[in-house]
Amino acid sequence: MIESNPKLETPQLGERGNEGIHLVIIGAGLAGLAAALSTKLANPTHKVTILETVKELQEIGAGLQITPNGTRLLHAWRLSPVLAPLAAVPSSLSVHRYDGTRLLAHEPNFQTQCLSRYAHPFWDVHRVDLQREMVAKCISLGVELRLGARAVDVHFASATVKLQSGELIQGDVVLLTDGLWSAIRPKFLGKPSPAILTGDLAYRITLRADELTGPDADELRNWIRNPTVNFWLGPKAHCVGYSVSGGEVYNLVFLCPDDLPLEVVKLEGSLDEMKQKFAGWDPLLLKFLAQVKGVHKWKLMWLDALPEWANKEGTFFMAGDCCHPMLPYLAQGANSSLEDGAIFGSLLGKVSKAGMKEQLPCVSRIYQKLRMERGRMIQLESFKQRDDSHMEDGPEQEKRDALMTKQLGKDELEAPFPSRWTCPAIQPILYGYDAYAEAEKAYRESPF
Ligand SMILES: Cc1cc2nc3c(=O)[nH]c(=O)nc-3n(C[C@H](O)[C@H](O)[C@H](O)COP(=O)(O)OP(=O)(O)OC[C@H]3O[C@@H](n4cnc5c(N)ncnc54)[C@H](O)[C@@H]3O)c2cc1C
Repeated sequence: MIESNPKLETPQLGERGNEGIHLVIIGAGLAGLAAALSTKLANPTHKVTILETVKELQEIGAGLQITPNGTRLLHAWRLSPVLAPLAAVPSSLSVHRYDGTRLLAHEPNFQTQCLSRYAHPFWDVHRVDLQREMVAKCISLGVELRLGARAVDVHFASATVKLQSGELIQGDVVLLTDGLWSAIRPKFLGKPSPAILTGDLAYRITLRADELTGPDADELRNWIRNPTVNFWLGPKAHCVGYSVSGGEVYNLVFLCPDDLPLEVVKLEGSLDEMKQKFAGWDPLLLKFLAQVKGVHKWKLMWLDALPEWANKEGTFFMAGDCCHPMLPYLAQGANSSLEDGAIFGSLLGKVSKAGMKEQLPCVSRIYQKLRMERGRMIQLESFKQRDDSHMEDGPEQEKRDALMTKQLGKDELEAPFPSRWTCPAIQPILYGYDAYAEAEKAYRESPF
């Protein structure tokens, strides 16, 4: 634990004569970047520093589905114009039986529905594209991004971060966005906080349309260049496929029981082993698999509910996977990280240096009230989605399939619908969430 405060850095004098505060963010993933740009947009007088452990932002990751609750924020951050050409815009969403013999659900107008219901699109993007554009936006707003800066400790009350180099960074507020494997979360909680196995793993695959070869290449290219979202539901497993990178890359994720050794988080997977596991699945998927040269296995982990995501003084906060990692079965991990960032930035924007002692505790209270319950709800819904997606063949699965297929062709589905992506009870809760409106409403109800 850091014992003492270093001397304060030069205060920032804002454009309106107000002195801004200094926000120090640990981690330049999507949660950290979202919070940084949202804070700067809400209050340009605030100084924002992001500390990131890697020396170069790695071009890693795969596809991400950015649902309307997320694209609403990209729009607010004026990132839509740069991201639109990089996104794939799926027209429809379909759910198949794993072997491709039966269509279980089909929304031919999925995109149009999203636009008419939520006023914002459903996008599929490559994580690298999103991160790169968010970094560029942060830099253009004056955020300082320090690469090769590994945080090793935080003095929570004084908002001081200690780097591996020994350097102390003094802020007014620290936001922790260092991901699932956070080394600082346990220090804040005062007890070990290991990630928990979900029991599942993901094989993540990306295929470029222009690199496909062989007799099936044209069919697969056509599939990739006409973006749609597809799920295949099988025993204890499912697969999701969608295009990214303007419809030039296909992203496939196969999800199944975790057989990685306990201590292994990510591993180069065996293609043969994977093909064996998914033998008998939809012939279309097998054609895609025949094109794959290498595959990675990712262990899927989560965390049970944390008692708090901030301290009462409001000098320390957490956001993103470091406080609410979840199964990716509703594609809400990154979307919720964007929501965290928007709400945090919106509230922090209202804080001034002169009033921060009274204001920051209010930010802590409102942020946790708005974010913790929703984060928990989405974590649990993602597990429920697994239960509905991974049924073994038998009476329960037949009941599920019958419930879905009897609604094929209907304009309005009935809740509860086993695919929460289109369930009329769950979809509006996920996609209809307007983080900025929520923050503003909460602030109006309890201004500080
Ligand atoms: C298979 C799979 C599919 C997914 N699909 C989707 C999807 O379709 N849609 C969706 O919304 N979400 C999806 N997700 C979830 C999503 O990827 C994550 O929820 C999201 O990226 C979390 O962002 P983050 O910023 O919280 O954490 P991270 O991306 O983990 O970022 C943490 C950052 O902190 C840095 N860091 C760590 N420790 C330190 C330190 N001590 N000092 C400084 N820096 C540090 C790291 O280097 C990293 O850059 C998926 C996840 C998986 C596994």
